[in-house]
Amino acid sequence: MKQRIALLGSTGSIGVQTLDIVRENAERFEIITLTAHSNWERLATQAREFDADSVVIADERYYTPLCEALADTDIKVYAGEEAVAQCAAAGNIDVVVNALVGYAGMAPTLRAIEQGKKIALANKESLVVGGELVMREALKHHAPIIPIDSEHSAIFQCLMGETAPIRRLIVTCSGGSLRDLPREALTDITPEQALRHPQWTMGAKITIDSSTLVNKGFEVIEAHWLFGIEPERISVIQHPQSIVHSMVEFEDGVIKAQLGSPDMHAPISFALLFPERAVRSSEHFSFTDNPTLTFCEVDRVKYPALDIAYDCLRRGGTAGCTMNGANEVAVAAFLAHKCGYLDIVRTIEHALDKASFILHPTEHDLAAANDESRELARAFLKL
Ligand code: NDP
Ligand code: MG
Repeated sequence: MKQRIALLGSTGSIGVQTLDIVRENAERFEIITLTAHSNWERLATQAREFDADSVVIADERYYTPLCEALADTDIKVYAGEEAVAQCAAAGNIDVVVNALVGYAGMAPTLRAIEQGKKIALANKESLVVGGELVMREALKHHAPIIPIDSEHSAIFQCLMGETAPIRRLIVTCSGGSLRDLPREALTDITPEQALRHPQWTMGAKITIDSSTLVNKGFEVIEAHWLFGIEPERISVIQHPQSIVHSMVEFEDGVIKAQLGSPDMHAPISFALLFPERAVRSSEHFSFTDNPTLTFCEVDRVKYPALDIAYDCLRRGGTAGCTMNGANEVAVAAFLAHKCGYLDIVRTIEHALDKASFILHPTEHDLAAANDESRELARAFLKL
């Protein structure tokens, strides 16, 4: 029986690579639903290729052109953010791949969990914003969450078959696009410079988040919720080659690592096929072509966002949601040349300083915290 997939965010970086894996394993997977925000043309092309049952375009302005593009097919077309969340919960879905970016990913994660779906989770913001709620619901509804984020996929793989206590998770960090520049040089960074990541080709938002290390901070929060490890036992180490995807240290001092080329197809393939693995005969990592693996401490003065994320994790409650909301507004403003690079972290600090705080938020409380944080960020940046 084929696994029936709802792929949320199919037009993005993770979405497109997920479809590569589906194409490689056509006998195992069936695409039921594809969703996009505004890229209706790519969505229509994908829907035709994979013969989807339905498509959802989150931005309702593109409903009509999408309908027209698919008029000669029997593919059903829906529009709106609510419809994205609904399709994650539909009865004819076995696996939800959440490749949405940002806060928009959390509601679909929760709707899928409530129906006990298997979730292949790329949208780390679901856990940054609402980790406590998401994990509690996942436990209650027996919904397995398999991470797609490469570091968490690595940790997940290192933990397979292990029941012994963990001493430490070691999350690796490339250092992002600006790692070779001194802090003084960051003042005048342009979006074009920050978007040039040395190892990974990703969506714009996560590429900026990687350069500020907001992404690594989010990954520490994500690791905490996925693996139940307290912040003091999650460490981050800079590893510029991005070959060691992350590590687990056990109480006997043994460290397990997962290695490979920096290519998101591998963790996506793992998440979709778990507990099996795909045959990907074209993939051959060469140690002799990559003879040098180096590691160093992260510069915590240059990258204050990492410690801010640790603080949010320790505070719990709505702190992660506030950090995420402010970051989303500031990154969008930076990409639109409406604020400076260093304003991103300043905006996060401002929002965290001013926002209200709820220790055990409901989904409704998180929505309010997200709105408040965005409002604070917009006011701070005079948008
Ligand atoms: P992209 O920006 O490339 O793609 C995002 C996808 O979500 C697109 O399909 C986009 O549609 C859709 N989308 C954007 N905003 C909304 C919205 N408000 N409502 C509904 N749909 C929306 O992002 P990535 O693929 O890079 O990242 C996706 C997630 O995976 C992020 O959480 C990221 O942190 C995580 N991740 C990504 C990695 C990577 O290599 N890219 C690695 C590890 C994690 P449209 O195309 O129409 O705009
Ligand atoms: Mg990652």
